[in-house]
Amino acid sequence: MNPTFHHRLVNSEYEDPSLFVRMLREKRAFLFDAGRIDRLASGDLMKISDLFVTHMHIDHFIGFDALLRSLLRRDKPLRVYGPEHIIDSVEGKLRGYTWNLIEEYPVKLEIFEISSASVRRAHFYAQRRFERIDGQTTVFDGVAMKDPAYTVKAALLSHGIPCLGFSLEEDIHINIDKSALSALDLPVGPWLGVFKGMIRDRVRPDTGVCIDGKEFRFSDLSHIAVITDGQKISYVTDVSPEEENISKIIDLVRGSNTLYCEAYFLEEDRERAIERHHLTARSAGEIAKKAGVGNLVLMHFSPKYRDKSHMLKMEAMNEYKGGA
Ligand SMILES: [Zn+2]
Ligand SMILES: [Zn+2]
Repeated sequence: MNPTFHHRLVNSEYEDPSLFVRMLREKRAFLFDAGRIDRLASGDLMKISDLFVTHMHIDHFIGFDALLRSLLRRDKPLRVYGPEHIIDSVEGKLRGYTWNLIEEYPVKLEIFEISSASVRRAHFYAQRRFERIDGQTTVFDGVAMKDPAYTVKAALLSHGIPCLGFSLEEDIHINIDKSALSALDLPVGPWLGVFKGMIRDRVRPDTGVCIDGKEFRFSDLSHIAVITDGQKISYVTDVSPEEENISKIIDLVRGSNTLYCEAYFLEEDRERAIERHHLTARSAGEIAKKAGVGNLVLMHFSPKYRDKSHMLKMEAMNEYKGGA
């Protein structure tokens, strides 16, 4: 299947974890954790509409400032989702700067603070010098974000402190049959994005579709779309290797095409992993196997294993692939 989103880690396994997910043909991207992000081009930063923060340890959140700086003149808001205290953390960062010359800037921050029972909201607008505006609180039902094309689910995990794991799912996957397209003598172009949106919105068959100034009926075009299950990727890091966490993660990431998972310690250092609230490579492999994940990408290695990444990878892959 032609993917709908491309995903890649911003840094190496020994550096800050941050996952950049770009929606193809949409000028839109998601960022999971904002550690060091200076390797992202400004054009990539400008595409980020949603930032998902697992927790606010500095290696996962220091990049927020750089992201905000690059978005200050953007019209589109930045939505930020994180665990308990994310609103205070964002407010604290904003209070660290002086904002007397930004009232002309359009940017808005919308913060969603996810805890076991509820989602609290707060807004910070450049026009109001980023003063905090508290919004409504709603019940948390496992979904952090949902729009017509994508759903991001969050699981409440423990890292000694609350920490969120995330999965990103495309509701349905739409491929365009290029031969059907050329049989109708239709060009590839931005109209295909609009057309896919119409499929997701389940528009009526007689709805008009405009292609290069010509009008078509939706039902006359529907055969060019091949609909399959959506793409799914997951991102889990900084989690205690306890049974309760592991089973919550398996539920969250089940069936993912790709799972990004920390492998901070080797299993031989399990005592240390428990003390520091991090997964071992073997736990990462076990999760991927039990959840039927298609591809496991390891990240966030402890610097203590510098030059031993092959051992972390081997341990995880042995568990995941059963020695294959
Ligand atoms: Zn970390
Ligand atoms: Zn941490």
